[in-house]
Amino acid sequence: MKSTYLFSPKGLSDMARYVAPDTLFAFDLDGTLAPIVEDYSAVRVSEPVRATLGRLAKVAKVAVITGRSRQDAMAILAFEPQLLVGNHGAEWPAQAGSLDCKTSSICQMWHEKLLDILSTAQGVEIEFKGDSLSLHYRKADDVENTLSLIDAAIGKLVPTPRRIGGKFVVNLLPMEALTKGDALVAAMEMFGLQRAIFIGDDVTDEEVFKLVNVDVFGIHIGKDDQTAAPYYLKRQSALLGLLNSMVGMLE
Ligand SMILES: [Mg+2]
Repeated sequence: MKSTYLFSPKGLSDMARYVAPDTLFAFDLDGTLAPIVEDYSAVRVSEPVRATLGRLAKVAKVAVITGRSRQDAMAILAFEPQLLVGNHGAEWPAQAGSLDCKTSSICQMWHEKLLDILSTAQGVEIEFKGDSLSLHYRKADDVENTLSLIDAAIGKLVPTPRRIGGKFVVNLLPMEALTKGDALVAAMEMFGLQRAIFIGDDVTDEEVFKLVNVDVFGIHIGKDDQTAAPYYLKRQSALLGLLNSMVGMLE
């Protein structure tokens, strides 16, 4: 699908119809609210973005749906949205129910097996996130060979995981875990809202952009011919301007 540049006259007038107090404003975290940096653990949301999100959350419902664990994301955000969903849609706040013991015990089992198989693989970092696992290989000398080692290891896991590739990372989730698309729909239901604006840049965010019969205004960070999002921003640094104009329309 061909995306429309959001800051074009058409993009802005289309968006204006969605910027309303009864719209859910939902965001991915890495690469969307915060720039991607070399060191995964050094990612931070800038102070102006954090402050503008805080203003947005005073006039509308804000949700962050991230691949990170909720605990990890909380520290990076330094801001509390009305809803924070972790692990690619699978990890919800305890009071919202749905955190599934079975999901975490499957991931625990995979984790032990992967530690065993991949212990000698150079440049692989295994991140255990409770309800999902991430295998990072940014630091591998031979990226291609490392990825085949990772895939061979994944092939030995029981039950078979859902595999989601990313930028130098492979994410594993139990088949029954909620996707980001499921999570957005559940969040809209939870807040009783019929419409949402969702901004993201990940492969997993496509689950949101591809939703049918759900009224979502999808914005992709970066121009990308592969995305199902109908609108795009040129780069992550344009997000602050977008947040400011949305808040300006609502306040
Ligand atoms: Mg992202």
